[in-house]
Amino acid sequence: MGGLLLSTGINFYLNKRYNMTCTTRNLPNEKSVKLHSQITCPACAHQKVEVMPTDACQWFYECEGCHTVLKPKAGDCCVYCSYGTIPCPPIQSGQACC
Ligand SMILES: [Zn+2]
Repeated sequence: MGGLLLSTGINFYLNKRYNMTCTTRNLPNEKSVKLHSQITCPACAHQKVEVMPTDACQWFYECEGCHTVLKPKAGDCCVYCSYGTIPCPPIQSGQACC
């Protein structure tokens, strides 16, 4: 009797721990990261949705409308942070940028 109660208690404890571990592991930042950002050209206001690279920051972006080569503003890590609707993946997931 006593042993059954004890093992039930241990199972409950293990399940609880497992679930907690599982929940933590199921919160990867990559899943909530959006990869499409709409860039607005500061020179001609041309807008285009671009797919951001997840492994690198994009420093230069040539506008399709006026062919101005955009560069990040001071303090921003890439053109998406400066001109896009959504900042780049490393910033979204709270990491220091590359
Ligand atoms: Zn432009």
